[in-house]
Amino acid sequence: MVHSSRAQMAAGPTVELLRPEDPGYDRARRVWNAMVDHRPALIARCREVSDVVTAIGLARREGLEIGVRCGGHSVVGLAVPHGGLMIDLTPMGGVRIDPEQRRARVQGGALLGALDLAAQEHGLATTAGNVSHTGVGGLTLGGGMGWLARQYGLTCDNLVSCQLVTADGDVVRASAEENAELFWGLRGGGGNFGIVTEFEFRLHPVAGRAVSVELDFPVAGAGPAMARWRDLSAEAPRQATYAATVLGGVATLGFVWVGDPDEGRTYAEVVTSLGPPVARRVEVLSYLDLQRREDTLQEHLVRRYWKGHYVRELPDAGIDALLSHDPAVAASLQAYGGAIAEVPEDASAFSQRRTALEYVGAARWTDPAEDGDRIAAARASAARLEPFASGAYVNALGDDGAAGVRRAYPPATLARLTALKSAVDPDNVFHLNQNIPPGRP
Ligand code: FAD
Repeated sequence: MVHSSRAQMAAGPTVELLRPEDPGYDRARRVWNAMVDHRPALIARCREVSDVVTAIGLARREGLEIGVRCGGHSVVGLAVPHGGLMIDLTPMGGVRIDPEQRRARVQGGALLGALDLAAQEHGLATTAGNVSHTGVGGLTLGGGMGWLARQYGLTCDNLVSCQLVTADGDVVRASAEENAELFWGLRGGGGNFGIVTEFEFRLHPVAGRAVSVELDFPVAGAGPAMARWRDLSAEAPRQATYAATVLGGVATLGFVWVGDPDEGRTYAEVVTSLGPPVARRVEVLSYLDLQRREDTLQEHLVRRYWKGHYVRELPDAGIDALLSHDPAVAASLQAYGGAIAEVPEDASAFSQRRTALEYVGAARWTDPAEDGDRIAAARASAARLEPFASGAYVNALGDDGAAGVRRAYPPATLARLTALKSAVDPDNVFHLNQNIPPGRP
């Protein structure tokens, strides 16, 4: 147990330390998934890089487990160490844009919405996820999939450099020129190597218009439409990212287009070949509205559980498995390809670039009495897809443990990540993540 006076003395000038009895403690420990009810011994709300250094030193001296919180969207609440010290980066949420150089400098606790908003003021953007209240930190370090990825690569592919604090409290930079191996690991290896206090991203001109096309089919009999959707997704132009959801007896098939809306609407004619839907929605919206469109559906403080897979090929039998999901479990698919697949496999720790589709089977509910049934339903639904899976996205892992990490990285990548971890964090100080333990690969 940390004595408050010692903790206070050890803290730097701007770090705010919260203990269980302090006002603000409960708000600070709450994360996206209401299933997470972890109680840290101490929360260090950091405003400066030096606060992060101080907090790491304090935790190591006191023998407290470290959790790192950015957006708080880890589905299993890895950011919140029960009985440990949570390094809360949320006060470090700033974004600076250099429109001439087309660069964004983003603090380690920023949310995607802040990055999108600041960049769009200059008609710029980089790949970010689909929900604006997700953290830049966790998303980028695991890869970062979004509606721009087929045009510009994953979020981590747009990373130019990082500033981070290591387990020893050193402040270092990593880029293609400086600490290049660390930079390789930070692009897909998750939070294993240090606490990133600043991300520098490449930005692209994005005019800010998008089109969403959704066609609803009753699940019974949706097989042929979904097979056609799958085939179209593989040959789509890069502006189009195919997406599908199966939930509550309805299969919603379509795509999101980022680019000229007239071109998007013209392209949308291809989906008439899916057959006649029971409902059809074509929506033209701003890029910022697209990025916020799922914010309410994916609201905070609901109970959640999910399982994910990558799928290189989805045969018709896989489509049957999807369509026979528990109707209360949302099965979602999003297509990869385009610029994601053009990056060489060994260029970054993210190494599932040949995937065709990402699948997530997700349950949401509010009554704790339903926990067991809902989790079992999500697991059973995802298990139906398992025979068609080829790995998993590290940021979609939950309670999968070491087996999940082995699914996220091919053996050669995992061996390289293990060597890097041994070099930069031999004591595994940063282990509340999809952990790559140090040691012999
Ligand atoms: P946190 O819980 O704050 O952090 C998760 C982990 O990331 C921490 O345990 C830590 O290990 C590490 N971490 C975070 N910040 C730092 C930092 N600055 N330095 C070092 N380590 C850090 N993923 C996509 O690719 N595309 C999507 O469109 C997408 N949509 C999502 C929508 C929702 C509603 C949710 C819940 C998740 C979504 N994800 C998506 C998955 C998301 O990428 C992961 O959940 C990610 O871990 C969230 O990061 P966070 O910073 O919000 O989470």
